[in-house]
Amino acid sequence: MDRKDETRGASRRDFLRKTAGFGLVVVGAPAFLSACGKGDEGPNCLNPPGLTPAQRQQRTALAYVEKVADQSRRCDVCTFYTDPTAAGQCGGCNLGLGPVNPGGSCNSFAPKS
Ligand code: SF4
Repeated sequence: MDRKDETRGASRRDFLRKTAGFGLVVVGAPAFLSACGKGDEGPNCLNPPGLTPAQRQQRTALAYVEKVADQSRRCDVCTFYTDPTAAGQCGGCNLGLGPVNPGGSCNSFAPKS
């Protein structure tokens, strides 16, 4: 092995050493996000495009929240909730709030009978 090969080998080793940490970050990111609960929280319906001023006002008036801690008060078990047209999308609310998160809620929650 001449000096040029040694330099090339050292350079390759340095490159692998320096990029190994990056690879762990990329490989570990989904597991980390999942553990933090950031990977599977469903659709973001807090401020969807096309929300009308009336819908915004209604959201404020009824104190709509995107995620409710009390699972028994979720939008998807509310009588005013309408299912989304496709899986993973926002549902609807018959009280004029516009798109709502299945896991959201507001002060007018009423359980389905
Ligand atoms: S009334 Fe409130 S809790 Fe019921 S679906 Fe609409 S936003 Fe959700």
